[in-house]
Amino acid sequence: MSNRTFTMIKPDATSKGYTGAILDQIIKAGFSVKAMKWIHLSPAQAGQFYEVHKERPFYGELVEFMSSGPIVAAILEKDNAVADFRTLIGATNPAQAEEGTIRKKFAASIGENAVHGSDSDDNAKIEGDFFFSGLERF
Ligand code: ATP
Ligand code: MG
Repeated sequence: MSNRTFTMIKPDATSKGYTGAILDQIIKAGFSVKAMKWIHLSPAQAGQFYEVHKERPFYGELVEFMSSGPIVAAILEKDNAVADFRTLIGATNPAQAEEGTIRKKFAASIGENAVHGSDSDDNAKIEGDFFFSGLERF
């Protein structure tokens, strides 16, 4: 069990002005921010990040969406970070997300679902390393 996870606030949420409210909910849930940046991914960079989903039918749509506007990328720390963060964000499809979760409150659809959360300790490390150098985190 690791105490770190990686998140992105996705372009749908940044463009609707939800960034502050989402960060507030994350911090109030007990996560501390160990690295953060506001960045607009190119299609090639988004494609590389989501390479694990390359064979899925929605890959092209996902890459286009994730490069359509700025995102906030961050490394977060808390006990049991990966699992607790996925509980905080709720199900991939906001229609199935629990009441009060970030996706229930801020996401519009399964494709445009406001936030990303790592699904394992190994992927949290890989994803954090994709965005942040040693100098940019503590
Ligand atoms: P994330 O990895 O972004 O935290 P997740 O782990 O809940 O989401 P994944 O199965 O990893 O879900 O899918 C990655 C992302 O791909 C989803 O967050 C969503 O943006 C998109 N996606 C997943 N399923 C679909 C689908 N059926 N149609 C369109 N987009 C989808
Ligand atoms: Mg995932």
